[in-house]
Amino acid sequence: MGTQFHSPDPQPSFRLDVPLQSLLQPEPAAPHLGPRPAPAIPPARELKMLPEPPFPRHPELLEDRDADLDDSVPHRPPSKRTWKAQHVYRTARGWLFPYLRSRILPGDFHPLIAYLFTEWKCNLDCHYCWAFDNRVKGMTEDVARRSIDWLHGTGCRVLALMGGEPLLRPQFVHKVIDYAAHRGFWVYLPTNARLLRPDVIDRVADAGVATVNFAVDAVDEKPGLPKALNPVRKHFNYLCKRQYKYGYSIFFNMNICRNNHDDIRELTEIAHANGIATDYHVNESPMLEQPQFKHARENETYIRPEDWPEVDKLIDWIIEKKRAGYRMVDSVQRLEEMRAFMRGHVDPWGCRAGQNSLIIRVDGTLAPCFPMYSASYDWGAIEAHKFETAQLTEMKKTCERHCFSTLNSILAFAYKDAKTITYALRGGATHDLLHSTAGWGFGRPSLRA
Ligand code: SF4
Repeated sequence: MGTQFHSPDPQPSFRLDVPLQSLLQPEPAAPHLGPRPAPAIPPARELKMLPEPPFPRHPELLEDRDADLDDSVPHRPPSKRTWKAQHVYRTARGWLFPYLRSRILPGDFHPLIAYLFTEWKCNLDCHYCWAFDNRVKGMTEDVARRSIDWLHGTGCRVLALMGGEPLLRPQFVHKVIDYAAHRGFWVYLPTNARLLRPDVIDRVADAGVATVNFAVDAVDEKPGLPKALNPVRKHFNYLCKRQYKYGYSIFFNMNICRNNHDDIRELTEIAHANGIATDYHVNESPMLEQPQFKHARENETYIRPEDWPEVDKLIDWIIEKKRAGYRMVDSVQRLEEMRAFMRGHVDPWGCRAGQNSLIIRVDGTLAPCFPMYSASYDWGAIEAHKFETAQLTEMKKTCERHCFSTLNSILAFAYKDAKTITYALRGGATHDLLHSTAGWGFGRPSLRA
């Protein structure tokens, strides 16, 4: 079975071949926990809480806050963004040094990036998104702190918060970002921005967030696509104005659906006018069966075969803009590959999930990647992972043919041969990372890894 996007016709509610689907989900969901078996993290000797973050750490950066809150003053991006030495170092410490370390040390398990699912609840219902279940409790402080401490010991220094919607608990997120940033992590925050109020922006920026993935699919809300820019314009304006003071970056993360092509074009222009980057995904159905997903059938956002020519034109337009100098996370090659993926063709590509990337679920258990969030296979938990190269390699013979993971494809490229070490060491590589890493992630279909 190939990748399926979708059509009004009856279809399986998952995309994997049946034998692998059976291995990963042998039992139905446990409703009280969401679609997973009982958590199995090692018991803590004592509960570890996250420290209360001091705020503000940088009071001088709040001095002109009122001026930036004034919406009558438009955001005017500089023609060229410059980065302070501390932000260049933060990126090198997060990405470059752990990568070089992983190439030198023996063994296969060297995570460079971890997705920390602090929530599995969401305040919106994008009809393509299966990655939430509002019955599931969020991560505890104990699990969050132990996760960060364990990751630190593995050499990992990039932490991507994930959900659900991470900002459902803004105080919790402030604590997680502050703790992780001050342990040396490069921290990535994805959000639908409904709760990204100016006071929340001040706190996460002051704590040291490195990039904000602003997930948006439409300019105004439309059927099945509530993640729109206009309801959160004020948040967007303030976020844009404050980025230069705090040294974080922003990018729009957009999902190309059958019903938002004009929106994608308009959002791309808005991003360009505001000096921020864009990142694109092609809408897809879930890889594994998701019992809690309400829109598996008759979904107005799924791309149908008759839509392919229009999506092709949209991809042509995006590539043209990229060649004209618009800042985009995706390479031209990656954008070109979306056409084949949309038609169900993916060649094996050398996925590194479970070796150089992983996810930590709300209960502290592990999986190699976001599409496997609901898998029941036991890959262990924080402080006691059970990733095995042989199992991952065997599994990927199937799932790679259905998967278009942005982050893992970049990691696959980085591990292909020694040329990338030369690239990483050459002058200017860290500067490139500051721009390109803005979109290394993903999580939910809108926030996809
Ligand atoms: S190819 Fe990699 S990222 Fe994709 S589903 Fe398989 S293990 Fe996960």
